[in-house]
Amino acid sequence: MADYKGVLVYGELIDGKLLSITTELLGCGRSLANELKEDLLCALASDTVSEAPKEAIAFGADKVYTIEDASLKEYQGDTYIQVAEKLAKDISPRIILMGQTSIGRDLAPRLAFRLRTGLSTDCIDLSIEPQTQLLQQTKPVYGGNAQAIFACHVMPQIVTIRAKAMSPIEQDDSRKGEIIPTKIEIDTSAIRTKIVEKVKEEVTGIKLEDAPVIVSGGRGIGSPEPFKTTLKELADILHGAVGASRPPADHGWVPEATHVGLTGKIVAPDIYIAIAISGASQHMAGCSGSKTLIAINKDPEANIFREAKFGVVGRYEEVVPALTNKLKELLAK
Ligand SMILES: Cc1cc2nc3c(=O)[nH]c(=O)nc-3n(C[C@H](O)[C@H](O)[C@H](O)COP(=O)(O)OP(=O)(O)OC[C@H]3O[C@@H](n4cnc5c(N)ncnc54)[C@H](O)[C@@H]3O)c2cc1C
Repeated sequence: MADYKGVLVYGELIDGKLLSITTELLGCGRSLANELKEDLLCALASDTVSEAPKEAIAFGADKVYTIEDASLKEYQGDTYIQVAEKLAKDISPRIILMGQTSIGRDLAPRLAFRLRTGLSTDCIDLSIEPQTQLLQQTKPVYGGNAQAIFACHVMPQIVTIRAKAMSPIEQDDSRKGEIIPTKIEIDTSAIRTKIVEKVKEEVTGIKLEDAPVIVSGGRGIGSPEPFKTTLKELADILHGAVGASRPPADHGWVPEATHVGLTGKIVAPDIYIAIAISGASQHMAGCSGSKTLIAINKDPEANIFREAKFGVVGRYEEVVPALTNKLKELLAK
């Protein structure tokens, strides 16, 4: 039987640069590896990995396996699974971490099936159980109303992790690590899908996931206009972005890409201002990682006030312009 050792992060990169989810996985992997007193490993597969292996080391990896092949230029489940399976069988990691991204969601279940092991998706917390050394895998269940902790007794233990649930360690370009170019034969005849078209998400201004401040509006906003005027003005003054709960996106008041929640974006800004949002669990599942939550709602009994650090009870039509004007005044000083 294989001797399972190490924590393997399956990295994602674009144009030779690590995605932020990969630095977050490395941050989480680093603390798990420290606890186990084992290595933090990272796998990077692409047509060219460029400077990404050095970046992975700077973010905590001890060893980086690079797999470069022209067939890995675009993500294709049928080629990437060959790489993931072969590498996992060759190096026998104890734990495999992937992002809860479109790639991770596709690749992780295939890998778990091929390795005859289990998988927990969308984890928000991970720790090592001291006695068994097993990975405790915490994930939201029942639409975010509860959390469940899983453990898998079969190796390797595979999880996908929600974006922004973990923090990267500080980048240290002087960190030393090993880069291991790895040749894996890829059978391109196994590819059963074809990429027909790629459509880039249209984003004007700051991307929601990267914004330090999000001003989010709900159904109580009532129409599309206030998102472009009242909410946008407040967001601009705070150098933030405008988000929404699901109903405004469903009604077409805002672009779908701005919808926060269980079925939308997961965000964790410094400040999240929820305006005319009731605070349903499916919405909170997307913003509960925010450092400070501020609620503005006309209903003092709204659930959002149970979650918020600061709250204003009142009609947003009056509260938001007053807040914007006060901020303008303070920031002008
Ligand atoms: C499977 C599933 C997945 C879902 N996924 C998501 C998701 O990803 N994201 C999401 O957001 N929802 C999601 N939902 C929907 C979710 O359950 C709620 O219905 C939704 O979040 C409610 O949005 P809301 O708070 O904007 O609207 P409402 O619940 O209708 O609340 C509107 C609020 O606005 C306040 N208000 C009204 N007028 C004013 C005013 N003038 N000034 C101030 N306050 C005012 C009201 O007091 C109320 O609290 C999902 C539901 C299901 C079943």
